[in-house]
Amino acid sequence: MQIRHIVKMNSRLSFKDSAKPIQRFMEMRAQKYQIEIAFCSEFPDKNSLKISGIYLFSDMINPFSDYDEILNVLKQYSAFDWTRLQVEGLVPGTGFVDIFKTGGEADLPKTYYSGQQARFNLQINIFKYKRLKVFLRLLGKIKDLHTYSVEQFASKLESKEIFELVISYGEDIEIEYFDHCPVCRCKNVQKLYQQDSQPFLGFITKNSSFYTRCLQCEVIYLNPCPKREDIPRIYDEFDRQDFAASLNFPYDEKSQRGNFLEKLKLPEKSKSLDMGGGIGKFSQFLKKKYPAWDVTHSDFEIKQYPELEKMGIQTRALDFTSSSIGDSQFDLITMWEVIEHIHPERLEFVFQNIARALVRGGMFVFSTPNFDSSLCKALDFYSACPPFHTFVFSETWLTHYFSKHADFEISKIGYCSDFLDDLGGWMKYGQQTSPSISLRGMSEFVSVLSENSKIDKELMADSVEGTEIIYCLKRK
Ligand SMILES: [Zn+2]
Repeated sequence: MQIRHIVKMNSRLSFKDSAKPIQRFMEMRAQKYQIEIAFCSEFPDKNSLKISGIYLFSDMINPFSDYDEILNVLKQYSAFDWTRLQVEGLVPGTGFVDIFKTGGEADLPKTYYSGQQARFNLQINIFKYKRLKVFLRLLGKIKDLHTYSVEQFASKLESKEIFELVISYGEDIEIEYFDHCPVCRCKNVQKLYQQDSQPFLGFITKNSSFYTRCLQCEVIYLNPCPKREDIPRIYDEFDRQDFAASLNFPYDEKSQRGNFLEKLKLPEKSKSLDMGGGIGKFSQFLKKKYPAWDVTHSDFEIKQYPELEKMGIQTRALDFTSSSIGDSQFDLITMWEVIEHIHPERLEFVFQNIARALVRGGMFVFSTPNFDSSLCKALDFYSACPPFHTFVFSETWLTHYFSKHADFEISKIGYCSDFLDDLGGWMKYGQQTSPSISLRGMSEFVSVLSENSKIDKELMADSVEGTEIIYCLKRK
């Protein structure tokens, strides 16, 4: 029976004209398998399909169709009369939204449980802009990629050359391997592997490790890691586009990060500096809440933000990993989800730099993913951001480190959870991408639970220690 593949275009792929090379790739791939392929902006009505046969429907963000597995499944179902077939458990990015057969007896859809994702734990869909970038680089690098089976692609991704390209985020940058913990220098370390989920940049199988854990101080660090001078190159337009598409806004009156500051009893006319502040959302929140404050927003590269300046917020370009922040100037320095991005060689310098810039008794407040939290480990959430996250810290590590620090004393600890704030979204993701029937079932269960009962997020963040910890240090 003739098989036709109908692909729905995806507006995300209009970014930087990415649809063209991907469409070309999908056409060549279908041709290799002798499958007719067509692209459309909306799926046609199934009743309007005039030519009889089997139709595969998919979205263009799933570009690497697993035709081998589908042909195998169709063979098994050829003994039955069916009209709709769903295949669960394919590697994300290789699957179909629907499989339809004309002329069959109308029936409930049948479901096949594929074991493909369980074999690889891989994700090659291009829903994230970071993944789109990596996939485009791989298309350029592996010329005959359209002829590969999923198994061959997975094995290619595990080769040293391609793994290093992926973990470099498709950039031509230098990376280095640490043979010891970059913080405490201990050589007794263990590699961690992602069994159940996948980093945002995708294209890494469960057999490649990119985080290592020190057995002595227990910090988790990116290994291999981009060379320090190359780190700015990974913050590119694809990365920024992921931020622009995200609706997450964790700084307002009701947010745990926003609330936390109230507990600190800062002076009425505080001078504050936010570092790594992106587009300045936190500084806007601060100025609105404390109009009398002298608020400065900073990030590595900054063009003047007229809208921030109009609100009375100062803006400053600041590379705190190499230049001085200042001397005894600030009552408060904040860094939300930033310290995990610092290159290991600069970590202690950055803490000293911050200490110098604070007045005596001034506060340094930051948040970062907390590996001690159970939720942080769920669906491998802690390892979602290589190569951007060079570290994964934990409450235990931070407390151990700062309880002996020359410049700081630990003042207050709080918790928040970007995972809980979007629990439904994360569970839907688990339902669609997890390697096992069991974890997909568990994700669906928690998703239903969260829809049907009100979850006290603050209480949950405190009792499971939050996926992120909010840490406040006081300048001695
Ligand atoms: Zn260590």
